[in-house]
Amino acid sequence: MNALWHGFADMGAVERDGAFVVARGEGAYVYDAEGTRYLDATAGLWFTNVGHGRAEIADAVAEQLRTVAHYSNFGDLTAPVTQALAERLSAIAPVPGSKIFFTSGGSDSVDTAAKLARRYWHEMGRPDKKIVVGRRMAYHGMHYAGTALGGIPVNREGYGELVPDTRTIEWDDAKALLALIEEIGAENIAAFFCEPIIGAGGVYLPPDGYLAEARRICRDNDILFVADEVVTGFGRIGGSWFASSRFGLEPDLMTTAKGLTSGYIPMGAVFIAPRIAEPFFAGGTWWRHGYTYGGHAGAAAAAMANLDIIEREGLLDEAERLESTLHDKLAPLAEHPRVAEIRSGLGAVAAVQLVDPSEGLPLVKTLRAHGVSGRAAGQGAMQISPSFVMSDDQVDELVAGFTRALG
Ligand code: PLP
Repeated sequence: MNALWHGFADMGAVERDGAFVVARGEGAYVYDAEGTRYLDATAGLWFTNVGHGRAEIADAVAEQLRTVAHYSNFGDLTAPVTQALAERLSAIAPVPGSKIFFTSGGSDSVDTAAKLARRYWHEMGRPDKKIVVGRRMAYHGMHYAGTALGGIPVNREGYGELVPDTRTIEWDDAKALLALIEEIGAENIAAFFCEPIIGAGGVYLPPDGYLAEARRICRDNDILFVADEVVTGFGRIGGSWFASSRFGLEPDLMTTAKGLTSGYIPMGAVFIAPRIAEPFFAGGTWWRHGYTYGGHAGAAAAAMANLDIIEREGLLDEAERLESTLHDKLAPLAEHPRVAEIRSGLGAVAAVQLVDPSEGLPLVKTLRAHGVSGRAAGQGAMQISPSFVMSDDQVDELVAGFTRALG
């Protein structure tokens, strides 16, 4: 019996079949404990935007840890690198002048946004605005708020009621939000949470016009629009730092993590539009919320080095290149009898949707035998979300691996 309990796992199966141990990574490749090389189709869990093995990030973290690893971000305390990172993020925020609240990861960011949305309305003298709305197939992490907001039923099974005042609506029709407003009243709704691209739920791209319409409905009805950009943030959307910038969404709150540090050190950040931050910055109000490791100096150093690399190497443009490369090169796989459709064409993201969802997990193992480390999301959607350093030749290698594995 192993001591390690893996996340999202049937541990009996892991005990029986053994773990897949990733011992090393370099660029778009990872290596197992025996030294066998695999093309990393998913950038880990959607986060290694700058690729594996970046000594520059390791060096920046080491230097920071030697100087001061972390102290505190509560009250008036912080570190120079944390301040500098907040300024830098505010400067690239979809809403200029946004405030930055640091967390330890995506689930923390979602929890923070859900609490802040309710607390904001409390500050505004409208404490009845409490209901938070999520969408079917959505994934917002695994804290209580995110699990309750999520739209993947199996992730909610077996806990009873998680967070009251949570509602789920259809994922692809903005009219569903209008119908909910009609039913329960905008005066009771605090916020609408929206992944610009549905990620872990199976990689579903937003229908044309959906995001703009949902945004407009929120604005018209005084409902906070929360863009969950844990996956789409920091370049994954292609050509822009954030999907919210690419689609002009001007979110009231934006949750991020993953690509902020490319996963080298855990860190998340919530971007808060000035209008929402205002009552808390006016003086006299404490927000009694925060995490020991929020704004961790070592993590902030990793984020700074990561952003340097993205800027210096033009990786936002590389993600845009991957948008069309993945779209073009994956298209022929749609003809395969075991493939239902390919979803692609927005950012460095795609899915090979299998006809039979039960083939997803076995296919992950077959892919490994063909030199690709992959992942099944949603209902048999093979996730493709490479690091932005994956070359077009490596995309060919990826498609060849998929073709052999499917065959
Ligand atoms: N939100 C979205 C859209 C995510 O995809 C994820 C993780 O995949 C999370 C939140 C939770 O992030 P974390 O696993 O870092 O807590």
